Amino acid sequence: MDIKEKHVLGLSGGRDSAALAVYMRQNFPEFEIDYFFTDTGKELPEVYEFLGRLEGFLGKPIRQLNPDRDFDFWLKQYNSFLPSPQARWCTRQLKLRPFEQWIRPLLESGIKVYSYVAIRSDEEYREGYTSRHKNLKVRLPFKEAGIDKAGVLEILEGSGLGLPDYYSWRTRSGCTFCFFQQKIEWVRLMEQHPEAFEEAKAYEKNAVEHGSPFTWSQGESLEELTRPERIEQIKEEHTRRIERMRIKQQVNPLRPDGEPLDIDDLYGQAKVCLACHK
Ligand code: SF4
Repeated sequence: MDIKEKHVLGLSGGRDSAALAVYMRQNFPEFEIDYFFTDTGKELPEVYEFLGRLEGFLGKPIRQLNPDRDFDFWLKQYNSFLPSPQARWCTRQLKLRPFEQWIRPLLESGIKVYSYVAIRSDEEYREGYTSRHKNLKVRLPFKEAGIDKAGVLEILEGSGLGLPDYYSWRTRSGCTFCFFQQKIEWVRLMEQHPEAFEEAKAYEKNAVEHGSPFTWSQGESLEELTRPERIEQIKEEHTRRIERMRIKQQVNPLRPDGEPLDIDDLYGQAKVCLACHK
């Protein structure tokens, strides 16, 4: 029988896409969904562990899409300049390109590809999530079903999967050295994964030596950011933000201790990309 359509769901190693996979499995078991993860090679170990747990729940392997060329290759192509919000070559080359290489032949052969994306009902629908090929259909099941952040947490808890382990210190998936990290996340990366932090520092040093205008974190190098007095300042500022947010937050009777606060709740939503952080 000729295949006329295909269903795919990209996992970032983050909370929302995992909850969407659980939701689709529970509510639309009739769809044969290909779950995939695009590996930049610079992911946290907790991401692989979480995806392993998710595979157990889904009862099928998650397809791993590896970029044909790694971060170091692309870094050289970009003259050792670090990727940044203004020049996000990393997402383009390491996340989107492998996906396109995978589905392009399917689309060209006339197969309709349905891609399920984890935009929640409490999030804005931004342009750019729409498809650029007539056979690629983007679906937003959480938006359609009115599932918000609390709903996502319920799905993960109810399934027994829970949150990825990195949630105890960072609320986003993505590369260890992602430039979308807030200063507090850099401090925590240093504490939790000192080797990954040292690697990021080395990339930064090399970039600056090659004339890169970007450091990983805006306005200061990682060397400067991790001076003891600076660390203390960053931690104090972070605690103050949490206190302010807790005062503003309405108490949910089902969660008297409050919902876990995302970094985006505290620092405002960054224009991060779905492939990396959802
Ligand atoms: S997680 Fe950050 S550094 Fe990694 S590909 Fe995505 S935007 Fe780039």
